Amino acid sequence: MNYQTQDTIVALATPNGSGAIAVIRLSGPEAITIAQSVFKGKNLIKQPSHTIHFGTIHDSDLALDEVLISLFIAPRSYTRENVVEISCHGSTYIIQSIIKLLIKQGARAAKPGEFTLRAFLNGQLDLSQAEAVADLIASDSKASQQAALQQLRGGFSTELQTLREQLVQFASLIELELDFSEEDVEFANRSQLRQLIHDITQLIGRLIQSFDLGNAIKLGISTVIAGRPNAGKSTLLNALLNEERAIVSHIAGTTRDTIEETLNINGINFRLIDTAGIREATDAIEQIGVQKTMEKISQSALLLYVYDVQTLSVKDVEHDIVSLHKPGLPVLVIANKIDLQNTTQQAPNLPEGTTYVAVSAKGKTHIEELKQLIYQHSVQGRLNGNETLITNVRHLEALQKTEQALIKALQGIDTAVSSDFLAIDIKQALHYLGEITGVVTTDDLLDNIFSKFCIGK
Ligand code: GDP
Repeated sequence: MNYQTQDTIVALATPNGSGAIAVIRLSGPEAITIAQSVFKGKNLIKQPSHTIHFGTIHDSDLALDEVLISLFIAPRSYTRENVVEISCHGSTYIIQSIIKLLIKQGARAAKPGEFTLRAFLNGQLDLSQAEAVADLIASDSKASQQAALQQLRGGFSTELQTLREQLVQFASLIELELDFSEEDVEFANRSQLRQLIHDITQLIGRLIQSFDLGNAIKLGISTVIAGRPNAGKSTLLNALLNEERAIVSHIAGTTRDTIEETLNINGINFRLIDTAGIREATDAIEQIGVQKTMEKISQSALLLYVYDVQTLSVKDVEHDIVSLHKPGLPVLVIANKIDLQNTTQQAPNLPEGTTYVAVSAKGKTHIEELKQLIYQHSVQGRLNGNETLITNVRHLEALQKTEQALIKALQGIDTAVSSDFLAIDIKQALHYLGEITGVVTTDDLLDNIFSKFCIGK
């Protein structure tokens, strides 16, 4: 990656392929002069920031396209550099010709994420905000979009910044003690420091805990549908999705491999995984399916256990649930095919953490109620809208390392270790906290983050 920002970069900002309009973006000190050199219309160099100008792009005498040019003069732009956006017609030929022409005039093709990298290097965004740009572009549900937007707006960064400033204050007092080490003085009040580190550790602990939910929201909440063959799992999946996708069949064990579909409930994506039946497997293929079911359950955040209310006894249901149960995993027990039932079967005796609901997957009755139960059992009460959710593994790891350093510092205070040891732990905590927002960075770290972006971001 190139960390120089003296040159002017160019890339297509809209998706590849043809469309009504495409936007080509230039950023750097020469952005406006390079654009001017191929533009026939007003003199762009004399125009104020945040204005749009109509004209033609010319390659010598050859007119390439009629375009609109938007001007953003440094530092009032995404990258804080001069930025020009050329809105041209979305033909692959026109796009390529204009980009080639701009390169001939002195621009350089941008690398993946280079516009956002410049925004970071020029102080427009911190690192966690830059990562939020990528998350925002990848978001596919209201909840994942909201989490990314909150991070982009700097909610998380401000929270970390405050923690960091408090710690920095104490760190500098402890450093001062080191200068006077002969005299055995304490500038940093130990009980105040202890309280502060204790409070910060708790807050960091809460952020770490939020990752489970944050990550689930980002990726979709993994929800397994399990039950014996012919219980109606595939039919239920279709009813939930309101379409005919999974294969429904009378022959037991048809859904041999897993099928995954996304269902959106109240703005949250659920990844519904339909599995093969859990009955004792007889043939080899189904055996694999059964094993897969158990594996999928162990990785999931919610289990939907479906049974055929007409054929399965309450005792068998209870037996299945005991064998599938995993501590901390919420289970919805779904009695299916209530349309076929003459007498009402009693609800099974269920362990804590399980909820019972009776539906007809084929008749599509109580499906909406089931959806709301799915929502309630996974996110409701855990998502209050304001709190910061960690959605990024890199942040999680940095927070875990910060927490470890702070716990060491706490132990140090309790055992009255010397200032120099305490200073090391606090510095480490500051280092890891700083990595999240990019106060502390290495080229490797930046390469790693920005190389995952697309070109043009
Ligand atoms: P799976 O093996 O658990 O995936 O079960 P399927 O979804 O393939 O369903 C097995 C059979 O039960 C099919 O013939 C479905 O049409 C039928 N079935 C599923 N749900 C219902 C229901 O609510 N009522 C009735 N009457 N039949 C159902």
